[in-house]
Amino acid sequence: MASQPLDQLPVTDLRGVGSQLAEKLAKLNIHTVQDVLFHLPLRYMDRTRVTPIGALQPYGDVVVEGEVRGCDIALGRRRSLVCKIQDRTGVLTLRFFHFSAAQKDNLKTGSRLRCFGEVRPGANGLEMYHPEYQHLDNTAPAPLAHHLTPVYPATDGVTQQRLRRIAEQALARVDNGLAELLPTGLMGSDAPGARGDRLSLSAALRFLHRPPADTSLDQLMAGQHPSQQRLAFEELVAHHLSLLQLRQKAQQVPAPVLPLSETLDRQFRDVLPFALTAAQERVVGDIVNDLQKPLPMLRLVQGDVGSGKTVVAALAALCAVGNGWQAAIMAPTEILAEQHRHNFESWLKPLNIRMAWLTGRLKGKAREMQMQAIAEGSAQIVVGTHALFQEDVQFHRLGLTIIDEQHRFGVHQRLALREKGDEGLTAHQLIMTATPIPRTLAMSAYADLDVSVIDELPPGRTPVNTVAVSQLRRSDVIERVRGACADGRQAYWVCTLIEESEALEAQAAEATAAELHLTLPELRIGLVHGRLKPAQKEQVMGEFKAGKLDLLVATTVIEVGVDVPNASLMVIENPERLGLAQLHQLRGRVGRGRQESHCVLLYGQQLSQQSKARIRIMRETSDGFVIAERDLELRGPGEVLGTRQTGDLQFRIADLQRDAHLLSGVRRTAHRVLDEAPEKVAPLVRRWLGENARFANA
Ligand code: ADP
Ligand code: MG
Repeated sequence: MASQPLDQLPVTDLRGVGSQLAEKLAKLNIHTVQDVLFHLPLRYMDRTRVTPIGALQPYGDVVVEGEVRGCDIALGRRRSLVCKIQDRTGVLTLRFFHFSAAQKDNLKTGSRLRCFGEVRPGANGLEMYHPEYQHLDNTAPAPLAHHLTPVYPATDGVTQQRLRRIAEQALARVDNGLAELLPTGLMGSDAPGARGDRLSLSAALRFLHRPPADTSLDQLMAGQHPSQQRLAFEELVAHHLSLLQLRQKAQQVPAPVLPLSETLDRQFRDVLPFALTAAQERVVGDIVNDLQKPLPMLRLVQGDVGSGKTVVAALAALCAVGNGWQAAIMAPTEILAEQHRHNFESWLKPLNIRMAWLTGRLKGKAREMQMQAIAEGSAQIVVGTHALFQEDVQFHRLGLTIIDEQHRFGVHQRLALREKGDEGLTAHQLIMTATPIPRTLAMSAYADLDVSVIDELPPGRTPVNTVAVSQLRRSDVIERVRGACADGRQAYWVCTLIEESEALEAQAAEATAAELHLTLPELRIGLVHGRLKPAQKEQVMGEFKAGKLDLLVATTVIEVGVDVPNASLMVIENPERLGLAQLHQLRGRVGRGRQESHCVLLYGQQLSQQSKARIRIMRETSDGFVIAERDLELRGPGEVLGTRQTGDLQFRIADLQRDAHLLSGVRRTAHRVLDEAPEKVAPLVRRWLGENARFANA
């Protein structure tokens, strides 16, 4: 029994774990004995030694010993029992909000105590609230702990003591039943950056559940201990493998071979009012190269706002069309889909390419007609929103799907699109995002994708001049808008999200629009927000684009992709409410024409340090990649990738930023496991992604 693999032993196999406790443990994602081992402490308490009172730091959990100097009831906002203890180095206040008279009597001046608890700053020096304590006068003190005391993530009805007891039992079995899934050879040679590279998995786990007394808590809390790095490495390998698996799976079914015809290419470039930038050419080259192969393309194009991704998408679509296959391009909003349709039509109509159009707004007869054109193949290119991928849409020889502004779609949605192939072939996939992702992150988040970067803006852009202005000078800003519009330019006034509520945000935008109507009566002012019907939204956007409006008051719905070159001033109200990436996206709406553009960050009164830092970065740089790096530092990967909601890229131990130095080793190791020990892939993915191993069976 001892040798049964721990990933197959139910947790009820441990002593004292019945079905009731098992149910509660399931809430912590603990189902097997192996899961117990991977349920790692959040933090540790040091009960192995006595800390001199003079050396205490706020927020540490410590053991102290001292003599009671006095004990009184303090009446303040909340009645409490206050007891002062002293050792040779200092005085500490113990504070109890719940206490009995007997307890007070028991804490006699002159008696000696050993206390354990968390140190906090108080009004007069350091305090401990409700410490556990023990009298040292008569009884012999219990021995101090031999190792650091783990504090596990817990849940209702599962105490720390319980978790410690079951961890103890699981650890006793670790040598017999826990498979080492990264062959030592792989680990040793491939993870020079991993300081845990020589540790066995069981040694690492044993250490982390029961760190010896002399372990540096700082190192542990920073996640820098070799044992943690050993586990982080394995976890990252598991994640990487899950994505590689996904890629392998996606590429099992071949794709149509779609070489770009020279004639079409030439015709297209003749129509285009500009020449491609070197960066665009390079990325088109990558795509054309992919599409010539019978293997489905899985490529992500990253390009800052305004870098010209649409034309790259159009060239990719031409590859499909030229070979008698259909291409579908999906945008995240109606407005963007509309813009793509407009661009594609102006570039491709002269080449006699037929297009269809499908969004959620399209109903009845009009929808029927578009659906029919798509199904019969009379439409060669289909433009739309996610409505394109509803069950009832039938494509005709779909050879390529293009997804614009990828960060709005989760891995799931990306996968769903793969099922729309035809003739036993998979469609190629091109994904475009305007959210620059730091390289290290991209490699992990998109291990299933090849990545191309458009790292150059089209010529003739003047950088946006960004200033920060306090709300106290709101009227100056309004005058600025008046001036710009009097010169025939257009402006945006962006109202930012209030407490995540679209309704409130819309209200704020309405109020601002009303205010600006009053103060700027000579201007033609439009309003868009998320509460408008798509048709209304589009009408306003259309008018702004056509120059029939001077000023557009908007919520962050205009964030992505909208292209109005004559707009050269943007006011962003309360920019402190937005992340850097979002600010950068918004600002990308201006600076698209020849005239100099300005962005005014109209901030509220009280700026946090982080908001100040963000505003400073916005003023200093317009490089999306630099901004993304800084965003990552300030907010962490979940926010930067927009995956917090989708749950992609949530790690138990690894931290993409902290462990960035591991990533190149992770990639190599993952590939080698795939090649040399493919039977290890499934158990590794299961061990680390558990129930979330959706990638594997998606
Ligand atoms: P994004 O990458 O943000 O989607 P777009 O594709 O909307 O950028 O392009 C932004 C603007 O730049 C559009 O007006 C487009 O026509 C123009 N553009 C794209 N490529 C070039 C180029 N090589 N030279 C000049 N203008 C270009
Ligand atoms: Mg775009």
